[in-house]
Amino acid sequence: MSYEFDLFVIGAGSGGVRAARFAAGFGAKVAVAESRYLGGTCVNVGCVPKKLLVYGAHFAEEFEQASGFGWTLGASSFDWSTLIANKDREINRLNGIYRNLLVNSGVTLLEGHATLTGPNEVLVNGQRHTAKHILIATGGWPQIPEIPGHEHAISSNEAFFLKALPKRVLVVGGGYIAVEFAGIFQGLGAETSLLYRGEMFLRGFDGSVRKHLHEELLKRGMDVQFNADIARIDKQPDGSLKATLKDGRVLEADCVFYATGRRPMLDNLGLETTGVKLDKRGFINVNDLYQTDEPSILAIGDVIGRVQLTPVALAEGMAVARRLFKPEQYRPVDYNMIPTAVFSQPAIGTVGLSEEQALEDGHQVQIFESSFRPMKLTMTDCQERTFMKLVVDAETDKVLGCHMVGPEAGEIVQGLAIAMKAGATKQHFDETIGVHPTAAEEFVTMRTPTKR
Ligand code: FAD
Ligand code: NDP
Repeated sequence: MSYEFDLFVIGAGSGGVRAARFAAGFGAKVAVAESRYLGGTCVNVGCVPKKLLVYGAHFAEEFEQASGFGWTLGASSFDWSTLIANKDREINRLNGIYRNLLVNSGVTLLEGHATLTGPNEVLVNGQRHTAKHILIATGGWPQIPEIPGHEHAISSNEAFFLKALPKRVLVVGGGYIAVEFAGIFQGLGAETSLLYRGEMFLRGFDGSVRKHLHEELLKRGMDVQFNADIARIDKQPDGSLKATLKDGRVLEADCVFYATGRRPMLDNLGLETTGVKLDKRGFINVNDLYQTDEPSILAIGDVIGRVQLTPVALAEGMAVARRLFKPEQYRPVDYNMIPTAVFSQPAIGTVGLSEEQALEDGHQVQIFESSFRPMKLTMTDCQERTFMKLVVDAETDKVLGCHMVGPEAGEIVQGLAIAMKAGATKQHFDETIGVHPTAAEEFVTMRTPTKR
């Protein structure tokens, strides 16, 4: 049977664009359908605008610290609408770049919602298209628990387009997005509370990292409340919101922001016309080759719910394009040692195992930890401390995990991730000459284990 396309990609986000471009580059006839925005979550309502807002939020502390270096600044003020307008302009520019990338690589771009109408058939804007392979890369969507009054709450999708910076914000959740947005709101001047339902936020991260970040957020005056969850939200006559917690306490705010995880985006996708199945958590079920239970249909990225990070979606997209159209270059995605950063203030950078995971996996560990006041802050009143930690296998000397809380943690950990991927031992770290004076050099100068 002949098909209109070799590959039909649904979703022009991180994973979809990468797969489409590379497949077209390998000579395949490719179409991509996009219903909302080119570049997907990351470019439009994720990594990129988030990082721009984080940059914006850092200026308040920079202004404060400047006086220690002899600067006298005039009165500073912040204008949310300027930040959002400039952010929107930059995102528009990136949307254009994504369009050019697709069109210039020979991909047919179809702007509209795609619905599967069979194992090899997709409907977009009333037109039926056929393809030998279909790749679902539709990403995820914020999930807000359906408590009474949940319609008054916003998610990250809306936060990027608020008309004004709320004066008082309740951020609900204890994952990446909650911690990052609490830092953004707080840094830009909103009175911010972070409410997490459990004992300690950032489940899965190293225990010392979680504790250190908690202490730093408290130093900054953020109201961080653990074992706190909202039971209902009521809108007051003056437009403000009243959140009643499960323990009966009542908090008032102008904005309640939920960051309680993301569900796969499967709305009106037509999966029922195919043999695609979902896993226990509701994400698309795939095998190690990203094949669904329907042989002609593959899925990658957030919609399969493995590791919801842009570089992982990119790697999965690349793996699919190579395996289908350039098999001699195919390499499976290696999910070990994925470095990641939480762009909180201060930021977290981490790669490899936490101390808890290492112990759980049966390693005998040596722990090296350091906490210090970064040089830049020594001439300021800021009491923030940077934290670094190495988790080392006591038998093999292999470095199992590197963790940091402090300025540029993501930038620093990216380099360490290469060393870890190459199998670096603690001895390799010790024999590496530091770059002086930097914070990063601490990673190669920690000599005495703090714990065995
Ligand atoms: P997406 O990028 O979500 O793309 C899916 C695309 O499919 C969308 O454009 C959507 O409109 C389209 N689509 C959906 N259904 C259809 C349909 N039926 N027809 C046509 N088109 C459809 N990751 C990081 O690595 N670093 C970060 O700093 C980071 N920050 C983040 C901050 C926030 C606030 C959020 C929400 C996420 C962040 N992420 C970050 C995660 C990252 O954005 C995702 O992991 C990544 O975008 C997933 O890529 P994807 O290709 O799977 O899906
Ligand atoms: P996460 O899964 O990271 O965190 C969700 C948080 O919400 C957890 O603390 C969870 O608590 C809590 N939660 C879940 N359900 C409820 C509920 N019903 N009531 C109260 N709290 C609840 O999701 P995010 O939304 O923060 O982010 C989604 C994903 O996007 C991340 O996992 C990450 O992969 C990606 N991302 C990456 C970023 C980066 O690389 N810097 C930045 C932003 C997002 P508990 O732990 O108890 O389950």
